Amino acid sequence: MIDLRSDTVTKPTPAMLAAMTSAPLGDDVFDEDPTVHKLQERVAELLGKEAAVFAPSGTMTNQIGVRVHCQPGDEFLCEAGCHIYNYEQGAYAQLSGLAVRPVEGRENILHVDQLRDLIRGDNEHLVRTRLVCLENTHNRGSGRVLPYDGVAEICAWAHDNGLATHLDGARLFNAAVATGIPANEWAKHFDTVSVCFSKGLGCPIGSALAGPAPLMKQARRIRKLFGGGMRQAGVIAAAALYALDNHIERLAEDHAAAQILADAVRATSGLRLEPDTIDTNIIIFSVDPQIATAHEFVAALRARGVLTLAVSKTRIRAVTHLDVDRAAVARAAKIAQETTAALADGKLHPATVDEDSAAYGR
Ligand SMILES: *Cc1c(COP(=O)(O)O)cnc(C)c1O
Repeated sequence: MIDLRSDTVTKPTPAMLAAMTSAPLGDDVFDEDPTVHKLQERVAELLGKEAAVFAPSGTMTNQIGVRVHCQPGDEFLCEAGCHIYNYEQGAYAQLSGLAVRPVEGRENILHVDQLRDLIRGDNEHLVRTRLVCLENTHNRGSGRVLPYDGVAEICAWAHDNGLATHLDGARLFNAAVATGIPANEWAKHFDTVSVCFSKGLGCPIGSALAGPAPLMKQARRIRKLFGGGMRQAGVIAAAALYALDNHIERLAEDHAAAQILADAVRATSGLRLEPDTIDTNIIIFSVDPQIATAHEFVAALRARGVLTLAVSKTRIRAVTHLDVDRAAVARAAKIAQETTAALADGKLHPATVDEDSAAYGR
């Protein structure tokens, strides 16, 4: 099987496993795991922040990030397609009593002009606008890298107007490698930044939140509240340290492989890239409804050894990663082309599939 469902499906490499089994450990709830300390310092340095906190998932680091900036009855602004709003069960409401104001970007990109009028006045009827959240790269936006100047502009506007800023950087290193703009340059515009080790970096688990030391002290407290205090967490922090040393530069490989798939989609009648440009490792394309639904197409690909995800009735997502090399991606691209042709010619009949089985947010 060529598994292109997500960059989360990677298995730790032997070298990563060796790093994990040889790491010095301690109880991190006592704040005495040396490997976790090392990782947190490394992440803080990489992102140009004072401190960082290690946590089990990106959902948790996002929710801690939102929480350190807001009190119950506060509101944050975000792009309507973002992970925090769509794929975290409204945890900001469930766990922190917050409201959200999602704003639809053009191709998932917000412009500062769309936000200027959204800060609510000081009035006892209203929630308090406190925070802006951005996502880079944008998962549902086909791995889009946000325009650097646009990010700087939104954050400067937010800070000028007393709002905090949080970056969901689950795939920030993809953005850094794709643009050559280092992670700390992206991060400097934000008060807090969340990064994931379990996506393109190939770790089995782990995310981190970085920001000013007093906020990270608070973040550690909230992490405990959310159930994210971990004991000998150095065993997984070691994987993250290994990945930061060895798996960042190679993201360029995933981006190059994604272009093979993008080119194949562009060259196939019945398939269409949406949007047409691919910046990093996520490809989203639609299939002509005359040929098949997205779920039918995914089932047909699976029968031929390629795993992808239906993200709507017409759209399919494929993601390149550490465990699929260029040759495998090229094979998958060829299979997608052959499958499209066979379905269009009526040589292959779509299987009956469960339309509710779309998978979200990965
Ligand atoms: C995967 C992802 C997250 C966090 O996901 P977890 O599975 O909770 O680690 C957050 N934001 C984006 C954009 C993601 O793609």
